[in-house]
Amino acid sequence: MLTASTQNVRDVETTVELTEVATGVFELRLPIPFEDGLVNVFLFPSGAETDLLDCGMNTEESVDLIHAAVRQVGAKRIRRLVVTHIHPDHYGAAGIFAGEGLADLYLHRLEVPLVYPRYIELEHLVAEVRNYLLVNGLPPDEAEVLSNSQRALSEIVKPAVPAVQLDGAEMLELGGRRLRVEWTPGHSPGHICLYDEGDKILFAGDHVLPELSPNIGLHPQSTPDPLHEYLDGLRRVAGYQPRLILPAHGRPFTDAPTRVAALVAHHKKRMDQIEAIVSRGERTAWEVALELWGPRDNMYEKRLALQEGLAHLQALAVEGRLKKFVTPESVRWTP
Ligand SMILES: [Zn+2]
Repeated sequence: MLTASTQNVRDVETTVELTEVATGVFELRLPIPFEDGLVNVFLFPSGAETDLLDCGMNTEESVDLIHAAVRQVGAKRIRRLVVTHIHPDHYGAAGIFAGEGLADLYLHRLEVPLVYPRYIELEHLVAEVRNYLLVNGLPPDEAEVLSNSQRALSEIVKPAVPAVQLDGAEMLELGGRRLRVEWTPGHSPGHICLYDEGDKILFAGDHVLPELSPNIGLHPQSTPDPLHEYLDGLRRVAGYQPRLILPAHGRPFTDAPTRVAALVAHHKKRMDQIEAIVSRGERTAWEVALELWGPRDNMYEKRLALQEGLAHLQALAVEGRLKKFVTPESVRWTP
């Protein structure tokens, strides 16, 4: 059982698979229980301490793997925990590793206000999401189920109070490296990447992934025009011409400009498709999502589809390519 005295480095006889992805930087791949995937976190050891970028979910298996990895790199404690964004697979175990007497948590300040309503006091956000789903065209029974899906997530997240709230453009010392904070909103309002200017290494979080296109969604906790912000951030990090990209999901890769061009083209095509759908007549966002992706069984996918569709609709409205009409009862999109 986990007790206060054993919370820093537990004496578990696990050997974990650590990959030295750059000199002095170790990648650890952690399970994401309900998504059938892995999240990559990074250790930056320095003597008896190590710094950590992202921390996985608050599950026993994942937490044990981090404890074992800390020991394996020769450290006795975690000094700094930097979190790219507060999604459960990146931030979930923050409260296990950071806080009073533990590591110092570094988090972008736009992520901080998302934590309390999302993981601690959920009722207000659940009601707000239910209304958001209804005005965007979901049938009431589906809106009820989807708005409650947030509750499951709060169980695998143990929040921590940040010791440092980041703005972007700070220099952080992790292990022996100096990394610049790159604020890259879109996937989450305060998503950050870290960039090593000397070695041209980008710790990309979920911003640039080798295989997946990260979900960019308009929802009650997003910024008002997340797709444009995301695309701007993509072009900015590609402009640095990083030599190595270390993503939070998938394997490290090298050709940033090609990957960024593919992601930009993907969103451009999606905007064109959605513009064409709305050009045939007034739609709700839910109708657009159904026309584009078809019905989904998985409720998490349904919500992501709606949010992603809305982000593209909003970007189209901002560009003046379609019109958005709002009342307390509905949000409608017209040619
Ligand atoms: Zn994420």
